[in-house]
Amino acid sequence: MYKTIVGLEVHVELDTKSKMFCSCANDPDEHHPNVNICQICTAQPGSLPVINKEAVRKTIKTGLALNCQIPEYSKFDRKNYFYPDLPKGYQISQLYEPLCINGYLEIGDKKIRIREVHLEEDTGKLIHPEGENYSLVDFNRAGIPLMELVTEPDMNSAKETRKFAEELHLIMHYLNVSDADMEKGQMRVEVNVSLSTKGKPAPYRTEDSGAGLGTKVEIKNLNSFRAVERSIDYEIKRQTEILGRGEKIIQETRGWDDIEGITVSQRGKEEAHDYRYFPEPDLPPLHASQEMLNEIQAEIPELPQEKRERFKREYELDEKNVGVFVYNKNLGEYFEKVISELPPKIPKNQLPRLIKLATNYLITDLQGLLRGESVTGEDFLITPENFAEFITLIYEGKISSKIAKMVLSEMFSTGADPSHIIEEKGLVQITDEVEIEKIIKEVISKNPKAVEDFKAGKENAFQYLIGQIMAKTQGKANPKIINDILQQILTKYK
Ligand SMILES: [Zn+2]
Repeated sequence: MYKTIVGLEVHVELDTKSKMFCSCANDPDEHHPNVNICQICTAQPGSLPVINKEAVRKTIKTGLALNCQIPEYSKFDRKNYFYPDLPKGYQISQLYEPLCINGYLEIGDKKIRIREVHLEEDTGKLIHPEGENYSLVDFNRAGIPLMELVTEPDMNSAKETRKFAEELHLIMHYLNVSDADMEKGQMRVEVNVSLSTKGKPAPYRTEDSGAGLGTKVEIKNLNSFRAVERSIDYEIKRQTEILGRGEKIIQETRGWDDIEGITVSQRGKEEAHDYRYFPEPDLPPLHASQEMLNEIQAEIPELPQEKRERFKREYELDEKNVGVFVYNKNLGEYFEKVISELPPKIPKNQLPRLIKLATNYLITDLQGLLRGESVTGEDFLITPENFAEFITLIYEGKISSKIAKMVLSEMFSTGADPSHIIEEKGLVQITDEVEIEKIIKEVISKNPKAVEDFKAGKENAFQYLIGQIMAKTQGKANPKIINDILQQILTKYK
């Protein structure tokens, strides 16, 4: 068996007001071509770049969140290559002295080391009109701040790599550094996959070891987490087969074909670029003062993993629910507001029950009503106070679970508070046993056949009677009381 070794290179478009080296708008939603451009991002002669402070701070913020060291000085370099979407003929990037180095991110019990996080600029976009013999270029994206994160080859399976990428994506959201929408290309993942029979992986980014093992294959065009996982699984299978035949793996770049579910050779080693990196002469070195680092550190919010641990500890939620609240950050924050609004009269030992109720109604019922919209959206009208009151009404048995769904849906569409809805619509739960018994007796006398069936041992006759009673009370009678009284009455018949 071979050991799978995976490393990642992740590009993330930063969410900043302006571009990396000019004051053009950084607007990923701009669909008119070549409107957010100027002499700097289209490389007119004599134009000079100016470093975007916001982009630098967001990169450092990411680095700090990923436990990186931030060297006191960092520098920009030129990466030279010619491509029509790159107006300058070189990209300003960081090779020798990046902003952040030597970090890590924990996935489960494992530390995935992060070699560096650096800052560069994005390229323009080429458009190839179908059936035409020309291409178009849109420079709106040229010069957008692009953060590149490089891991050490510390991942050993497709699943683990996917988990890492998903966690990274979540951290970008928590830090507010990027929307990191993979479908829109705001987060682009490249994976390096190699197989090794030796305990030690082949050195990263090096040439073929000669043994035919540990040769690195790079996969590009991965625009979903699913594609990350599937492409690695495919590549493990492909490389295992090649090695099994006694052949060598070719070091190359492969693209992922999502429809066919295969990787396809794109570029061999012989075509690899020589980027002729050299220090960017038009930009001064960057100095990261301790004061600035402290300031940025203070802006880092509670991160997903800390939140998972706290939610488990503080609210005693199971892993699945914690996962929903952490993934859906806004819903998690709303949940906490709801809990803090629960009335103080509730005894402490009853809190877990209310927390559980709130969790279930938020995750199942409310998310169903929201249909993918957020609780922070303008159209969302339920205040945390009202939601807390709603949960309390259920807990106190003032409304049945069936009525609760109606009340919640009404709250959702009008924003009204739940006790008003209940009063106005006459939805208060019937808990008066005498009244319930009276209704049950009526239902029994009208359904002699069901009673006969019950006596004959047909279990669903009991359920049928419950249904009849519920219908008669429009779902308002307390189900447990109905159940108990019906049971009592029917046993007498037996
Ligand atoms: Zn510009």
